[in-house]
Amino acid sequence: MTSVNDQYRNGARTRSHADPDVDSGEIRARVHADFPRTVDMLSRKIALKSISSQGIAGAHMRASADFVAEQLREVGIDTQVVQSTNPDGTDGAYEVVGSRIVDPQAPTILLYAHHDVQPVPDPAQWSTDPFVATTVGDRLFGRGSCDDAGGIAIHRGALHALGDELPVNIKVFIEGEEEMGSPSFIPFIEAHREQFAADVIIVADSGNWAPDVPSLTTSLRGNTTMDVTVKVLEHPVHSGQYGGPILDAHTLAAMLVASMYDEHGELAVPGLQSQEPVGGLQRDLDENSVRRDAAVVDSYRLAGTGSLAARLWTQPSATVIGIDAPAVDDSFNVIANQTRIRLSVRTAPGQRPEEAQRALREFLTTHAPFGAQVEVTPLDNGMGWAMDPDAEATKDATEALREAYGVDPVNKGEGGSIPFIPELQRIFPKAQVLVTGPEDPISNAHSPNESVSLSGLRNDIVAEALLLRALGR
Ligand SMILES: [Zn+2]
Repeated sequence: MTSVNDQYRNGARTRSHADPDVDSGEIRARVHADFPRTVDMLSRKIALKSISSQGIAGAHMRASADFVAEQLREVGIDTQVVQSTNPDGTDGAYEVVGSRIVDPQAPTILLYAHHDVQPVPDPAQWSTDPFVATTVGDRLFGRGSCDDAGGIAIHRGALHALGDELPVNIKVFIEGEEEMGSPSFIPFIEAHREQFAADVIIVADSGNWAPDVPSLTTSLRGNTTMDVTVKVLEHPVHSGQYGGPILDAHTLAAMLVASMYDEHGELAVPGLQSQEPVGGLQRDLDENSVRRDAAVVDSYRLAGTGSLAARLWTQPSATVIGIDAPAVDDSFNVIANQTRIRLSVRTAPGQRPEEAQRALREFLTTHAPFGAQVEVTPLDNGMGWAMDPDAEATKDATEALREAYGVDPVNKGEGGSIPFIPELQRIFPKAQVLVTGPEDPISNAHSPNESVSLSGLRNDIVAEALLLRALGR
């Protein structure tokens, strides 16, 4: 049997199931012909050193925004650079905003990427100059090559490939402060809600399963944080005199935390939800790779049950990220009267974090070991996010990726969060948010030797062009 992949490798032309009128070969040819221009754009963008942590309102960020605005203008988007205002009233980031309205009745697509990049604390850790784009084999190295100049390249390339055949209205938002946590992005969008309203939002700031295996990012876990105080005595006492019947606050806190888990190391807190990977699991994560990437000691057995993907993407997890206790070198023979721990809990994508926080609080305050006093102080909550696997736009995106890459996409989740995505979804509840992007497991976003796969990027551009055509049906 010939797989789709083989057909592609053999050069046979396949037609999109999403839109029989689309000649994907023609789109592919245009993307290939334009690709030297794509690489040139990436190279010039990398050279701009748009490090937002060196001042989001700095001249270097203005230059980066101007450059991106110009690049998008060349593919037909009416762009401008606007400066947002920080929540404290000071000058904020330079954002590139724009639109192209082809038909008021046609669907409207908002394209998101960001033009700021992570800093480079130690260039000596790089094999190439981080701000001189350098091609090695199939990869282009440089700070921002994948995160997120690659995202900008996908949008620009797709719009170029469609040219005057663009069947949808386009709005763009290329952010200038994503790497700083987007302090003014959401207030800006909320203040200009009408201007950015869209049927589909494509966030090109994530990535693929592998350079030759595409993905949609289907979910992000939420998070909730709380401080837990455990008190057993009004003041510390001598551990020789009272040790035995009176357990110290650190031991009691450890018992309390341990009581949240079952014998498999899975969180067993009533009301804390768990779910299976959104859109189904096409391929599980490889345990050896996870162990190697996280540098797990050989003897350690991974906790929990179910697929590794579910454990990392869609099941809840709890981490003690802080504990008030004397450092070992400063310790004495006393029974600690009280202690405080900070719990950071990742929540299932579909559960409201406030609800998870309430469930945890209820559990912790009713499971105090030996009746110790337990107080829970709720802190921050951040909503997770889950793609709608049954939405038309999702199916169109999956089909476009399959067509572009010649293989079936493998969905992936994120254990961490991209805070602005649930916020965008909150502001535009009816919009379908699609999370794509040029990264892959060896892209090293945020790390030394960041790179993007050139073949993957080319396919991502083809996919987005096919997707935009399908959405215009
Ligand atoms: Zn990014």
